[in-house]
Amino acid sequence: MHTNSNDWTHLERLEHAARALEPDAAELDELFGKTVAYARRHLSELAHAPAYVEREDAGRALTNSPITEDGISIDEALTLLRDNVDSIGIDPASSRFLGYIPGGGLVHSALGDLLAAVANRYAAVYYAGPGAVRMEHMLVRWMASLFGYPDSSGGFLSSGGSMANLSAIVAAREVHGVSGNEIERSVVYLTNDTHYCVGKALRIAGLSKCPGRFVQMDENFRMSSSALEETIRKDKKAGLRPWLLVSSTGTTNTGAVDPIGELGDIASAHGLWHHIEGAYGAFFILCQEGREILHGMDRSDSIIMDPHKTLFLPYGTGAVIVKERNHLFNAHRAWADYLQDIEQEMELVASAFLSPELTKHFRALRMWLPLKVIGVAAFRAALSEKIQLARYFHERLQQVPGFEVGPYPDLSVVTFRYVPPRGDANLFNQQLTDLIHADGRVFLSSTLLQDKLTLRLAVVCFRTHRDQIDLTLEILLEKVKMLLDLPADKRPAAPDSHVFRVTSSTNTSQESSSAVGP
Ligand SMILES: *Cc1c(COP(=O)(O)O)cnc(C)c1O
Repeated sequence: MHTNSNDWTHLERLEHAARALEPDAAELDELFGKTVAYARRHLSELAHAPAYVEREDAGRALTNSPITEDGISIDEALTLLRDNVDSIGIDPASSRFLGYIPGGGLVHSALGDLLAAVANRYAAVYYAGPGAVRMEHMLVRWMASLFGYPDSSGGFLSSGGSMANLSAIVAAREVHGVSGNEIERSVVYLTNDTHYCVGKALRIAGLSKCPGRFVQMDENFRMSSSALEETIRKDKKAGLRPWLLVSSTGTTNTGAVDPIGELGDIASAHGLWHHIEGAYGAFFILCQEGREILHGMDRSDSIIMDPHKTLFLPYGTGAVIVKERNHLFNAHRAWADYLQDIEQEMELVASAFLSPELTKHFRALRMWLPLKVIGVAAFRAALSEKIQLARYFHERLQQVPGFEVGPYPDLSVVTFRYVPPRGDANLFNQQLTDLIHADGRVFLSSTLLQDKLTLRLAVVCFRTHRDQIDLTLEILLEKVKMLLDLPADKRPAAPDSHVFRVTSSTNTSQESSSAVGP
């Protein structure tokens, strides 16, 4: 627009219009009041709301309400949110969401997010936000101490476990010089139950051509240490270069914990980088039951964990810790002249120099606030309770004739299926899963274990207590009875309505190999 240099009156018009971005005191009262009232109501309804709702329109009204020049009222916006987002699909905050790996949603974290967003502190560079960086640093040190990692370790809070795995793998790649011609002879060891995001991370890291050894698992779906040792020896003899072991402290599929101490010893004897994939299970180290199975973590080279799973935070927070901070630093280093004001405080080196991100959400506050205000004891109790609830469910279900129950839970996942007197057991368990989903009071997910369709119960949410487990048992018996009472041809056909159908099968009986990437 051409403007007369003496006439700046249009600035007033622009300012007036732009002022809508800065609510005044009365508007702030309304925005805060109504938003908090919405959140309070959501929380109060949580105990009775369904864990899963499948709805024909799938929230389409949201798309039908386009972004326009003029805004709508906060009431209208909250109504759109309630009707089209917060009332359909899986409710991850529900105490009765027991599928996949459930989430959390500590209210203290939500308030931390609010404060982080209002003040909008810069959390990526030390001099710009020394307090914010210090807070993240403190949390990393606290996590490192849980696993017995030294002061020279370092890490950061990521958006989730997938990103955390990526950074650990990139650090391992740099340390082991896996590049160029070396890639095709540098072998990665994992199992069929290693989370799929590890394969994805290897691919993103340019390592999809690394040979992958899907090491045999034992009858409890844990990586077999003797099979690992044998496979590494064979590979070395064949002139290959074993470099990375990925062990899991709690697989998503069955919750199994690999024997990390033994595996770690083998990895170090053969000079491999030992990465522990602890997105689901690493935080169980906070409780006695968890410590009994998670010993040996201190001897690994890197660990990832998901505070948005077993530390009960809302989605959006993972973490990675590498035993030697310099490895992480070297793998992510980059420089630009316009960063020259930034001093490197190696002790408090910020995530901009350890991670792929620069500017980021001030994640530390959503983790620090609940830990400080609630204290760690309640977290220990909740994690211990989750393990005990899984054991309780395992014991109770075993007492019901017809149910075939998987291994005694290493942590808080139980696998099981019903074996009907007649007919196809896989179809029966698919129908059972579908009936549970249609009911919606509790949510369970299913998987395939050695080609057997198997249901899973994963107890992770801090809101889940014995009542919800008893209700789940009740619903299971009710649905099995319903199916048994129906003549086979009247039973629901297994529909395709399933949320995320699992297609890969778990094979414990034989070892397989292929490039790790797709
Ligand atoms: C959830 C999960 C992941 C992936 O983490 P995101 O936070 O979803 O990216 C990886 N591994 C395991 C075992 C998990 O449970």
